Amino acid sequence: MKSLSSYLGGRWIEGTGTPQVLVNPATEEPLAQASSDGIDLAAALDYARRVGGPALRALSFAERGALLKGMAQAMQAHRDELLDLAVANGGNTRSDGKFDLEGAIFTLTTYAEIGERLGAAKFLIDGEGVQLGRSPRFHGQHVCVPRAGVAVHVNAFNFPAWGLAEKAAAALLAGMPVLCKPATSSAMVAHRIMEILAQEKILPEGALSLLVGSPRDLASLLGGQDVLAFTGSGDTGARIRALRNVLVESVRVNVEADSLNAAVLGPDVEPGSDMYELFLKDVQRDMTQKAGQKCTAIRRVIVPAALAAGVREDLAGLLGAVRVGNPALSEVRMGPLATAAQLADAREGVERLVAEGKLAFGSAAPCAGAGVAAGKGYFISPVLVEFAAGASGDAVHTREVFAPVASLLPYSGEAAEGAAMVARGAGGLVSSLYSDDAAWIEAAVFGIAPYNGRIYLGHPKIELSPGPGTVLPQLVHGGPGRAGGGEELGGERALAFYLQRVALEGSRPVIQKLLGTQAV
Ligand code: NAP
Repeated sequence: MKSLSSYLGGRWIEGTGTPQVLVNPATEEPLAQASSDGIDLAAALDYARRVGGPALRALSFAERGALLKGMAQAMQAHRDELLDLAVANGGNTRSDGKFDLEGAIFTLTTYAEIGERLGAAKFLIDGEGVQLGRSPRFHGQHVCVPRAGVAVHVNAFNFPAWGLAEKAAAALLAGMPVLCKPATSSAMVAHRIMEILAQEKILPEGALSLLVGSPRDLASLLGGQDVLAFTGSGDTGARIRALRNVLVESVRVNVEADSLNAAVLGPDVEPGSDMYELFLKDVQRDMTQKAGQKCTAIRRVIVPAALAAGVREDLAGLLGAVRVGNPALSEVRMGPLATAAQLADAREGVERLVAEGKLAFGSAAPCAGAGVAAGKGYFISPVLVEFAAGASGDAVHTREVFAPVASLLPYSGEAAEGAAMVARGAGGLVSSLYSDDAAWIEAAVFGIAPYNGRIYLGHPKIELSPGPGTVLPQLVHGGPGRAGGGEELGGERALAFYLQRVALEGSRPVIQKLLGTQAV
């Protein structure tokens, strides 16, 4: 069985102790093992700060952007083997694997272009200079410089390629070295990406490190110049935020956590219309892509009460056509969940939802996967739980079931009521609205805006719309409250997390000479 080493301090290091075994979640066949025990994590962080940081800070944005382009090209060149690993270790269909890998490549390419646009500068000038006194000589100017620490990136199991790339793109472009910690259960894709990048010497020494296996006390070793971007469960995010060093040394932390994303159908939408069909397609895609293990997947489907029965039947028809099984088979449309623990958690979550509503499609019962031996694999069928109009269940608005599971909730059709239901999720990554009625859209958008990081306005005339579940690098990803209160991506905005804003105050000619901003 392959042992996955960590790439730290510029070399591959294997941990000691009892390793964690990584399996194929469709067949439960062991694929690899990893351990981080015994590895000197403090030395690894120090190497990144000492060696990777100065190397990146010496480069311009354009040069750092060129590094990202190199990463994207290297991943593209190894696309097929990375997809094979995503199918085997992630339980991904090939289409799921492409969603992860192509998203990674697109994000790196987008940030490479931003680097090219920012050009020869090594730091950002923030806004116009300001006159501070009666004389124009007394001058102030904000600038944003790369932080002198290391960016630790802790990722969830569901996007091993995209998770690595979307966080690394912003940090490396800003000029900070990265230590990436992929979730252990699906780490084979991120590990292979690191092997490729190290082998081909795409990045300067120390710019990117990879820790495979348990994070141990990694987050406790960070200081005031370091940053930590975390994606995973709200519980782990809260534990990290409460660490003493994080509080005392003001370690900058970004958390992307749980989210009960909602899709709201407007009362003007006629069954059978293009808008209605788009809505159904988006819900079905979000429920079943990556077996529903997407932080942005639609969890609450909010529809006018008069349409609820029709939506239930139409969705049941679409979900029934999804073949569940070994994602290595081309006819399979949905693979298993990532781990036995995720399956147990999903079953428990469905039970909680069903205690408040009733099953409209599927169930939490064991589900056989096509093309695998009986009883093997972490399979669950798509599940739709229906709620009665006015039902004030709690779990439906608080329990994210990270699986192909959604709840159908009827409402009056009033935008204010729909918005109030969305708000009960207490903060989400994305909500989607489907309507052609401008007044309804306005009331709904501004009703839900404070509770969401992104609002997707579904429209059938948008060609090749990726739906609400796709995170685009040009737009922010994150959300308030339950979603972690964080923000990633959003084009150039993403750099701010890795930069220190500093105000320069002094003589205008001195500051302008220093920054090269004097008028010509
Ligand atoms: P998790 O247990 O919080 O793990 C997420 C990551 O954190 C993994 O890499 C894990 O490493 C690491 N980790 C665990 N304990 C840690 C600690 N004390 N210090 C530092 N790192 C630590 O989450 P999960 O249950 O695997 O992930 C599923 C959940 O994540 C879902 O329920 C979903 O809500 C959420 N999620 C959110 C987003 C988003 O963008 N908002 C995306 C995907 C998933 P190991 O794997 O080695 O334990």
